[in-house]
Amino acid sequence: MKMNEIGEKYHVYRRDLMLQNSEGVTVTYNRLHNVKEKSPDITRLRELHIEMDNSVAAAFGWGDMELEHGFHETPQGIRFTISEPARREVLSRLLQLNYERYEKEVRQGLHEKDKKKAKEEKPTRQKPQKLVRPEGQLNLLAEPEASEEPEIVESIPPTLSSEIGSWDRCKCLVCDKPVMGFSIAEHTKSEHQGKDPGYRKIM
Ligand SMILES: [Zn+2]
Repeated sequence: MKMNEIGEKYHVYRRDLMLQNSEGVTVTYNRLHNVKEKSPDITRLRELHIEMDNSVAAAFGWGDMELEHGFHETPQGIRFTISEPARREVLSRLLQLNYERYEKEVRQGLHEKDKKKAKEEKPTRQKPQKLVRPEGQLNLLAEPEASEEPEIVESIPPTLSSEIGSWDRCKCLVCDKPVMGFSIAEHTKSEHQGKDPGYRKIM
């Protein structure tokens, strides 16, 4: 099944489950992450979650990867998610992909303009311009953009952490960097001394 189909299936199932139980997203995710929760509807939601993650991995050509879904200790407590070794492997493969993509673009001369611009203006950090997008669905590795404009502080509140899934693209509300759901804890720790900066899902 294709990634967008399984994504749709997951969201429809989650919506129906929430309506049927008169429970919001937060309650539903608290149940999902609760190791003692064994009701069939939540078990099914977990299965769909696994299917969705696997289809994303497959879209990257990583059918060989064991994501090892289960209840894993994270800085936010126990979460039903991929294992820590799997998370590290995903990150390292994404970085490698992005690097290869960038090298290829440099060879094609796609970054000549940047060099010229950098010479004319102030020197800027070289960065990948294009992001890896399997089937145009995802934008998983968003290299932090060196923003030249002052940060715009938006008044929209951060997304609740319970509503952020592993594969959701988010934005750090303090440094404005794009962060994947499974990297939020690491970002909070390494960039903000463990103090939650708040994240918002990017749709
Ligand atoms: Zn940040």
